[in-house]
Amino acid sequence: MLRFAPSPTGEMHIGNLRVALFNYISAVQREEPLLIRIEDTDKERSIPGKEKEIYEILALFGIEHQEEQLQSNNVRFHRAMALQLLQDKKAFNCFCTPETLETKRENAKESNTAYRYDGTCENLPAELVIDNPNPFTIRLKKPSHPITVTDIIKGESTFAPDDIDSFILMHADKYPTYNFACAVDDMLADISLIIRDEDHLSDTPKQIAIHEALGYTKKIEYAHLPIIVNNEDKKLSEGDDASSVKWLLAEGFLPEAIANYLIMMGNKTPSEIFTLKEAIKWFDLKTISKAPARFDIDKLKSINREHLRGLDPKELSRYVGFADEEIGQLAKLFLEEASTLKELRQKVGAVFAPKVAPNEYQAQFDTLRKLTQKAPHFDDYESYKGYLMEHSGLEGKNLLNPLRLLLSGAEHGPELNDLYQNIKNYLKEVVK
Ligand code: GLU
Repeated sequence: MLRFAPSPTGEMHIGNLRVALFNYISAVQREEPLLIRIEDTDKERSIPGKEKEIYEILALFGIEHQEEQLQSNNVRFHRAMALQLLQDKKAFNCFCTPETLETKRENAKESNTAYRYDGTCENLPAELVIDNPNPFTIRLKKPSHPITVTDIIKGESTFAPDDIDSFILMHADKYPTYNFACAVDDMLADISLIIRDEDHLSDTPKQIAIHEALGYTKKIEYAHLPIIVNNEDKKLSEGDDASSVKWLLAEGFLPEAIANYLIMMGNKTPSEIFTLKEAIKWFDLKTISKAPARFDIDKLKSINREHLRGLDPKELSRYVGFADEEIGQLAKLFLEEASTLKELRQKVGAVFAPKVAPNEYQAQFDTLRKLTQKAPHFDDYESYKGYLMEHSGLEGKNLLNPLRLLLSGAEHGPELNDLYQNIKNYLKEVVK
């Protein structure tokens, strides 16, 4: 089983979506089920109901899954496992107050040394533990040996016991930490491959230490995905609009194009434009670069444009708010200048919107409008243009500039001939 384990704490970031896509593709390739585990045990940061949005986004991108879990429903297992570790003396109760720990952390900072838990509560006599009325956390005893993480993308990284440290498994409120909940749940779900962000690479030895302490010996495979940076080489953060999946969708990027780009970014792919289904045939975690992936919105735009070009005209028409094939064809004409649905909606909208001509050719514009309103139907542009020329006496620029504005609502754009072919059945509406 593979898993995608988002925290319902904010907008879905494209980094999360990339993790979800890679997990989905790998699960299909390995013919294993995919679990969506909503990691909601951080009570302060979790937003109730946020999981609904996560599931909607996954569905929109075609990320199918077989199992669902809300991590908070597993807290009884986390508590049971913590108890077992205490009984086995692999974990201990820690009564150090947050204030004391903070002071020790500050001191370490001042003396420029890495903070390590100093073992104060590790060997407390049993009666001091049992009779202690104070709140306590539960810590795992730091491992006695270094832990090596073998990662499909990053290779091997070895972590010394001091770097893993005696870390907290259960908070004083009896809720698990991320590392403990995650390690227990991965074990209970029999996860075979964990694909997640590089940010979690330093958590992995801790989770392996938990598995070892619980006597779980299954070798889990890992793939930690390099961070995503913006064009200034800074980690793509919430400050960058493009980091939000919702923002990209609202801007009019197709889910197919976003998925295409996220699979291609920092990766070697056999072609530039592909579908998720096609990617399943050749995707290989091993071809992903170790270096940070650069998010380039212009590249995403060009990929989006290709996916828009490939859409069935009727479908594209619906995306821009109509239902006719011809409007889909019309929208495609604007793909020379536009690359998102939002831009296409603007362009197609301008064709049907009331138009205002500049003073410079207001008179010619009015003449052409009146003539078109009364004109019979012409099947081809040349006949329509001929009719206008004959009845207005206009020609050249004096004809074409106002005519372009009349037919498209813009001063530049596709060939009038192509435009006419797709709007000729709506002409009276266009020039109303
Ligand atoms: N809830 C964690 C996150 O969203 C999950 C990390 C993991 O996959 O283990 O970053």
